[in-house]
Amino acid sequence: SEKRLLEIRIMAYGDRQLLLIARDITRIRQLEGMRKEFVANVSHELKTPLTVLQGYLEMMQGMESEDSVNAKPLKLMQQQTHRMQSMVEQLLALSRIEDAADINLENTVNMTQLMEGLKVEANALALGQYELSFYCEPGLDTHGNELQLRSACSNLISNAIRYTEPGGKIEVQWRSTATGGLFSVKDTGEGIAPQHISRLTERFYRVDSARSRQTGGSGLGLAIVKHALSHHHSELTVISEQKKGSTFSFVIPLHLLERRLKSGSVSSV
Ligand code: ADP
Repeated sequence: SEKRLLEIRIMAYGDRQLLLIARDITRIRQLEGMRKEFVANVSHELKTPLTVLQGYLEMMQGMESEDSVNAKPLKLMQQQTHRMQSMVEQLLALSRIEDAADINLENTVNMTQLMEGLKVEANALALGQYELSFYCEPGLDTHGNELQLRSACSNLISNAIRYTEPGGKIEVQWRSTATGGLFSVKDTGEGIAPQHISRLTERFYRVDSARSRQTGGSGLGLAIVKHALSHHHSELTVISEQKKGSTFSFVIPLHLLERRLKSGSVSSV
């Protein structure tokens, strides 16, 4: 007979009773696999036609004078295809990241380099309109997947910029704490009402879809962050106050951090 997949939960009641619940999740897993494959295929297939559209629109725009009647619609069409392209990119990124199969946590990620790269990217996004501050604890490296970690950090930083009015302040940190390496992004932006916080990492979930559409997002960023972090035995923490700002953070647990043999520290053999 075919193999079944069971999910088993054991719960303790007082100190004398255990309750065991077994659930057949074979079908759920199959459907989930189909959904993932479908999303991955569709987004892959959409890439080519979008690139073609984008190319022709660019060409046509180049041929129109700026005050022609076609200039404005062409510009809008180009913006919208560009938006569609970045959503397709994000869908692909999400389906790649959801696939835990190819994740290798043995490589060392140089966090100083990674933070340098993030800083360059953040400066390009901020266009000099924000007060950005970066702190990276020297030599605090971790094991993990560099692409996924970078993608998680980069999504959090671009959100902080997108959901903060120009003139605001954004503080990015990577430093050690008692429980591991703490990465945090603090902004002085619009904040998030408490009832939304637990749902932010759901695919396509956005607090205010009209406003978020203006900011050019897809609602997939934090879903990507969640999956990337879960591969690193970590999860997203959100602290936010409306109209004051938000702090998004995660801790990479001690066992994944690259052990440093500093002079004066005791190393066990
Ligand atoms: P989006 O592409 O819409 O930004 P995300 O998954 O990255 O999608 O974020 C989901 C929603 O969470 C956003 O639409 C926004 O409402 C909210 N959000 C994310 N980051 C912040 C932030 N730093 N400040 C305020 N709201 C935020």
